[in-house]
Amino acid sequence: MRSNLAGPRLLLRRLREVMAEPIKAQERLDKIVVLIASNVVAEVCSVYILRADGVLELYATEGLNREAVHQASLRVGQGLVGLIAAEARPLNLPNARAHPGFAYLPETGEEAYNSFLGVPILRAGRTLGVLVVQNQSHRTYLEDEVEALQTTAMVIAEMVAAGELEAIAQKDTGLDMSRPIHANGVALAEGVGLGHVVLHEPRVVVTNLISEDTDAEKTRLDGAINRLRLSIDDLLASGDIAAMGEHRDVLEAYRMFAYDRGWIRKIEEAIRNGLTAEAAVEKVQSDMRARMLRQTDPYLRERLHDLDDLAHRLIRELMGRGHGPTPAELPQDAIIVARNMGAAELLDYGRDRIRALVLEEGGPTSHVTIVGRALGIPMVGQVDDIVSLADAGDGIIVDGDAGEVHLRPAQDVENAYAEKVRFRARRQAQYRRLRNKPSVTKDGVEFSLQMNAGLLVDLPHLAEAGAAGVGLFRTELQFMVASSFPRMREQQAQYEQVLDAADGKPVTFRSLDIGGDKVLPYLRSIQEENPAMGWRALRLGLDRPGLLRTQIRALLKAAAGRDLKLMFPMVADVSEFVRARELVEKELKHLRRHNHAVPEKIRLGVMVEVPSLLFQLDELLAQVDFVSVGSNDLFQFFCAVDRGNTRVADRFDTLNIGFLRALKRIVDKANKAHVPVTLCGELAGRPLEAMALVGLGYRDLSMSPASLGPIKAMLRSLDAGRLSARLLPRLEPGHPEANIRDFLKRYASEMDVAL
Ligand code: PEP
Ligand code: MG
Repeated sequence: MRSNLAGPRLLLRRLREVMAEPIKAQERLDKIVVLIASNVVAEVCSVYILRADGVLELYATEGLNREAVHQASLRVGQGLVGLIAAEARPLNLPNARAHPGFAYLPETGEEAYNSFLGVPILRAGRTLGVLVVQNQSHRTYLEDEVEALQTTAMVIAEMVAAGELEAIAQKDTGLDMSRPIHANGVALAEGVGLGHVVLHEPRVVVTNLISEDTDAEKTRLDGAINRLRLSIDDLLASGDIAAMGEHRDVLEAYRMFAYDRGWIRKIEEAIRNGLTAEAAVEKVQSDMRARMLRQTDPYLRERLHDLDDLAHRLIRELMGRGHGPTPAELPQDAIIVARNMGAAELLDYGRDRIRALVLEEGGPTSHVTIVGRALGIPMVGQVDDIVSLADAGDGIIVDGDAGEVHLRPAQDVENAYAEKVRFRARRQAQYRRLRNKPSVTKDGVEFSLQMNAGLLVDLPHLAEAGAAGVGLFRTELQFMVASSFPRMREQQAQYEQVLDAADGKPVTFRSLDIGGDKVLPYLRSIQEENPAMGWRALRLGLDRPGLLRTQIRALLKAAAGRDLKLMFPMVADVSEFVRARELVEKELKHLRRHNHAVPEKIRLGVMVEVPSLLFQLDELLAQVDFVSVGSNDLFQFFCAVDRGNTRVADRFDTLNIGFLRALKRIVDKANKAHVPVTLCGELAGRPLEAMALVGLGYRDLSMSPASLGPIKAMLRSLDAGRLSARLLPRLEPGHPEANIRDFLKRYASEMDVAL
């Protein structure tokens, strides 16, 4: 059966004429609906535009009651029009009234119509409205009629995006383009950032939709596809990608799509119908995106995301537009919005101008997260569709504490956050003033406050925050951000730089704590039921001594002529430490035999983070030079609470009596044995919890750099002796007040302790 359509090319030519006329927006929309109605030979053609309040308003119609324009409206999800908007896909119905979603608007007079074809008005995956045709007869609209409507919808989308419809929008409801959006994601790095959107890989907006010369467009497309294929092949062939693990998979998927005949055929067809090459790619991509949004299979969704990325690259090829802004072009308050990015790309932006980072993907252990945290950049990840929802320059607030993003925030939200940021800044200024003041309590008890680190970018904090040293250097982070296994020399070079940067302050290195959730993309990981209790850390090191010995050698060489402090994670039995020490001795012997310089002094310690050690402390303390309490793991194993599972995270109080007694046992035994003890888990960095540690007798704490100021402020306003005298009796059995958290809060408020 032939369609009624006068031909897609003719329609496009007419549309171009209408777009070029110097007329007002309403008149232009009115002409478009007349044009479509006559082309599709439909009795009705209507345009609905999505307002900021989530209502689809009738903006123009041919065939329905014209009085209803700007009066009739539907909510997203309501009626067939609302359904199209909600699902972002066309509906083609010969008998619309039989559809369960049918809802009729009496003011429009549409009761006479049976067949219905509607398409979403989409721009970069975002629904801006719905375009509809209707007929009295029962007919099924043909494929090229659907195409014609989709192309027209693109033209209308450009009118919306260009702000042309603002003039006829109702004052207080605005259009969807400027709608505030509140999105929830996963908190990846703490802090709050206010600023303006910078798209990591900016979308190029296609404005030239209608082609003058189909053959020329086809030639442009061929050229761009060839360039695209070459660039991907080049990337894949380049030496260093060979070891890139996950990146390679993505590029392989790109290559597959770049050679996909079906995809290219669809683009060519859109060009034949009169679109420019870039508009054709965008049209096919829009269809694809709509399908992607409905896709629930995560693997397929991922692949469709890849195809989406590829289409962007192709459009950029066609329009000769390169990449995102260079660091110098960034606004002062840039908030980077990206689907995902590598750690190196984040570093390329430079720390100074980035206020925050938002990702559609990204998890707590992604490389970019590790680096973002080290740089102190607030981060939220797993924010669905944020790249297509955000436009460059949009106002945005990123709450890395709550895992929330406010795009184009309303004024009151912005004010509230601005106040929060000002408050933080004042606090930070206070803490900076404490930097060179001693860490000593009111009653003269001295403390050593050190910081946790893991990357070279962490080290400037040592001086900035006034830390006494690095109490925990997590060596696995270097391995986690690398694209291949760091060789001995690379490891050695990094440890040398760490020691140089510490400039004589002590650094406690921790041997590799990989396995569990700390996965290395280039190291084949095995599936384990309980990875936290599986083959990780020192267990892996002792079973594969090659790895651990290489690291030990790198550390011994790096610390030649200086002090080396090294501790081992996840020790569950003293014998494991003994075996690890033997490896150190072997390496030392080897280096001496080959006349290498070795450290002046070596101290070996153990992280107390497996509860079994609590009952081997006497034996342990007789063997080690120092211990460090890893309260994160110790608590998770002590109370059987997965530290990464937010559902149970708040379930057990880290200040519960059982756990505090365990912590007291460690510090008492260590003091008695004259073995230095540090606590380096997150507890040390939280003022109220740290107060408890002071009361228990801990004097050496290591924490994230941002916590140094608050903890020092707390210490300097506290009387340690008095606190101990009040706290310790509460840990005895039978004491009537067992809630230590409440007690500490009350004590702090009575005694004016700065929390
Ligand atoms: C700990 O477990 O408390 C600790 C400091 O180590 P990590 O957080 O790296 O496991
Ligand atoms: Mg640990």
